[in-house]
Amino acid sequence: MFDRTAECLSRAELAALQLDRLKKTVARAYANVAHIRRKLDAAGVKPEHLTSLDALERFPFTLKSELRDTYPFGMFTVPRENLLRLHASSGTTGRPTVVGYTRGDLDLWSDLMARSLACAGVRPGDVVHNAYGYGLFTGGLGAHYGAERLGCTVVPVSGGGTERQVMLLQDFGADVLCSTPSYALNIAEVGETMGVDMRKLRLRCGVFGAEPWSEAMRRDLQTRFGIKAIDLYGLSEIVGPGVACECAEAQNGLHGWEDHFLFEIIDPKTLERLPTGEPGELVITTLTKEALPMIRYRTRDITTLNDEPCVCGRTHRRIMRVTGRDDDMLIIRGINVFPSQIEAFLVDFPGLAPHYQIVLTREGPLDAMSVEVELAAEAPSDERFLAKKADEIRHHLKSMIGVTCTVIVKRSGALPRSQGKAVRVKDLRKTAG
Ligand SMILES: [Zn+2]
Repeated sequence: MFDRTAECLSRAELAALQLDRLKKTVARAYANVAHIRRKLDAAGVKPEHLTSLDALERFPFTLKSELRDTYPFGMFTVPRENLLRLHASSGTTGRPTVVGYTRGDLDLWSDLMARSLACAGVRPGDVVHNAYGYGLFTGGLGAHYGAERLGCTVVPVSGGGTERQVMLLQDFGADVLCSTPSYALNIAEVGETMGVDMRKLRLRCGVFGAEPWSEAMRRDLQTRFGIKAIDLYGLSEIVGPGVACECAEAQNGLHGWEDHFLFEIIDPKTLERLPTGEPGELVITTLTKEALPMIRYRTRDITTLNDEPCVCGRTHRRIMRVTGRDDDMLIIRGINVFPSQIEAFLVDFPGLAPHYQIVLTREGPLDAMSVEVELAAEAPSDERFLAKKADEIRHHLKSMIGVTCTVIVKRSGALPRSQGKAVRVKDLRKTAG
């Protein structure tokens, strides 16, 4: 463990530490951020009301839109010149969301990411091939500084140039691959077409995050690379990658670092807090962030919290695999569908490659969904076989998700490959409408 004392605190010690840090965080945010002061005043709550962790339930949530509304620097507790770094989301619609870090924040982030990597089974001295994108996205630099903090040799390759990635994985003898799961799959495929036996690489461990993925995808990546595939969680608004990570021992739920974050699960409709173990939306409060504290940030991620003891000995509760982001949920003819459900189905379907794209269109007043899938390289590719496969898949998908869709089976290699974050859904409904 990177920090055994912190990672194995008793539940009582953790709770006491959380309350102390929570009070300080909320007081500092209230004193320094006009937007937060107005919000808390309007809700009739003050920092001194936090006499227990449960008292936080009366405090208002923070939404992603508030970061946009206060763009670019309106949520920071410190003057801009005290920030050492800015990151920003891609902002597909309108303004990006901007996050900033003091020296203390960068230090904390490196520690948390080092802790997460160690939890994933990465060790000092390992060669870490970091294929997360470098730049405004927090993935690349987050993993980079965490791996350095742990004492690894970092290869800052970033995304893209996949053939070169395969060469460097071989030549530098990488022990660890950090990337999105969809890009890891792309690397594996390109390696296979180059005639490289990816299972013979030195790679021992993959630390995959930044997009939701399924257990089926985990099995696939583990088999292709001959590695242990570990789920890493984080989001820029909270700190970046390193908010939670699976342990190599259990690979069952991600330890959320509770000495630095407070996790709640709420019902996204009633906004009431739910008991541990019930599924709902993950809400996170930062406890030690300086520049950009977040009070009850609504992540939109749907999951459950698990407080059962873990075989690894860490006491921090586990955030179970995020099945999808509320924002990612598709509503097709009134039925809720998560792309990750479709992924899990396709990855396990015999004869298919684990690539897919969902295209949404409007046919008159009705939504129409077509799912484009791809045959595995070894499958036959005559028209009759493609049509038969499409029929089978349509039938199974309909019984699983309850929506009739068009299935288009393409030949091996026909679908676009991920260069970082996979684009799973093309929604043409708005432009068509
Ligand atoms: Zn564990």
